[in-house]
Amino acid sequence: MRWKAVNVDKLDAALGAVLLEALAADRLPWMDLGLCQEYPDIEFFPPRAGGSSAKAYAVCEACLVRRECAAWAYTRSDVHGIWGGTSPQSRAKARMAGLDVDELLAAVDNRRAARQTAA
Ligand code: SF4
Repeated sequence: MRWKAVNVDKLDAALGAVLLEALAADRLPWMDLGLCQEYPDIEFFPPRAGGSSAKAYAVCEACLVRRECAAWAYTRSDVHGIWGGTSPQSRAKARMAGLDVDELLAAVDNRRAARQTAA
């Protein structure tokens, strides 16, 4: 019987290597440059009701990979939380309006600036 010849330890190592490769492939280079990594206490996945995302937006605004981050989240409708200073709602609205990522970021920035001016 062929299956008895399989070395289980080698099989585990091979499976582990495949899984690690898959995980690494899912991590894009810009993710290592995200400013949010320096702010582990700031909530980028706020609860729907209550809680403020203002601190997360401020960090994203200063992040060097903001556009890459927003573009990545914009291509995935299943992504939650603040990415590139955009909320899931703003991304959904922009998708419905057929905006590209630069237009999404401009719309988000304009709305935020208008709110700050009004306050
Ligand atoms: S844009 Fe915001 S969420 Fe994206 S990597 Fe930068 S700090 Fe993190």
